[in-house]
Amino acid sequence: MTELSKVREQKFARLLESKNQSLFYRNKLETYNLNNVSLYDLPSLPLTTKEDLRLAEPYDLVGVAVSKIAHYHESSGTTGISSSSWFTLEDLQTAGNQLNQMGVNLSNEDLVLIRFPFALSCTAFLMQQACMQASAGMVPASSRTTITPYVKVLELMQKLNVSVFAGLARELEYLIETAKMMGLSMQEAFPNLRAACLAGELLGDHRKKYLESKLGVPVYGFYGSTETANIASMCEYGIMHISEEDFVIEVLNEQTKQPEKIGEKGLLAVTTLSHQGSPMLRYVNEDIVTVKETKCRCGHSGRQIIVHGRAKERIVNSKGTILEGLDIHEAIYRLPKVPLIWKIVESDEYLTAIVDFGDDSLSVTEILNMEQHLTEFLDLPVIVRLANKGELINRQLFTENTISLKPVYIKLQEKNSKVELSL
Ligand SMILES: [Zn+2]
Repeated sequence: MTELSKVREQKFARLLESKNQSLFYRNKLETYNLNNVSLYDLPSLPLTTKEDLRLAEPYDLVGVAVSKIAHYHESSGTTGISSSSWFTLEDLQTAGNQLNQMGVNLSNEDLVLIRFPFALSCTAFLMQQACMQASAGMVPASSRTTITPYVKVLELMQKLNVSVFAGLARELEYLIETAKMMGLSMQEAFPNLRAACLAGELLGDHRKKYLESKLGVPVYGFYGSTETANIASMCEYGIMHISEEDFVIEVLNEQTKQPEKIGEKGLLAVTTLSHQGSPMLRYVNEDIVTVKETKCRCGHSGRQIIVHGRAKERIVNSKGTILEGLDIHEAIYRLPKVPLIWKIVESDEYLTAIVDFGDDSLSVTEILNMEQHLTEFLDLPVIVRLANKGELINRQLFTENTISLKPVYIKLQEKNSKVELSL
């Protein structure tokens, strides 16, 4: 048994013991004989579904004494139905270590602007933890808040000489658009920016390259979920490596739920080996993934994970070919001209690509070319329609710079103000 296998078995035994604390897993494993169960037996244990977690009471998921809890987080995703997760201090440190395996190599020379929301979701806090552990500085810009509109974020990046941006790919795209509307070139206006770290959305090779071409700096992805914390981080060669010492990653056949062969596409099931706050056993997060063996030049021994998107968001074309979210993203981001924002709408015979190019106008020939490209890439007829104003995004958001201020409780008279100033 290798050293890694030994550590994984020890952590797995601890995970099974956590059912003594977690009512959720005590109930789930009630009928299972766990004597002498090892990782080899994992496929015989029950799966944990999103629905299970949504129905669970938050405290039923806690795997340690409640006094050890440091953070509570919730995921809402795109459905608005939340599920809970808990972190101990050690869990946060583990996540910080994982993120610091990213090729970005944060150091005390860096100032990282975090544009993930600092509200309920865990990603911003995990990135903050990575910064602290790497002695990097951090600017908590957050997102979806009236305190930091896009113009304000660009101002912060410029005046503070921010060296690393961390957030959703979409947020970065919106910042690039805002900069363009302000007459700024990302490459010239932010000479200190050296990298972007993105998570929370699909990041295929073409989207990565597209963003890198806009920024002139490398883009790194990391992958995880609120329920599991970070699972994999991208190295300098663009490979998303799994943190094997912290997770057991299974790829399951979608119908049989039995393990797929290595390299085959299937449903991801994650078993957390290190996470103690709310440990997960065979958690099916509904993502479709491929896991591959890799001998990467970076020296990371973790296998590569490729995330294809949500099982619920795929489209089957007329020939029965499955189009994953990633296929659609890649088709869009390899267009000669990439839209600022887009949406694909499925109909019986064809797809409609609703696209918004901001202030850029598009000729009929360009639209026809785009239809031809997308039809070819997706192997399904695609009709391109320019979005109506405000249909996909309210572009006023990009130029608004009204910052939410604290209330004023005491307003001095004008003359008093003058007296005060002259003192
Ligand atoms: Zn690598």
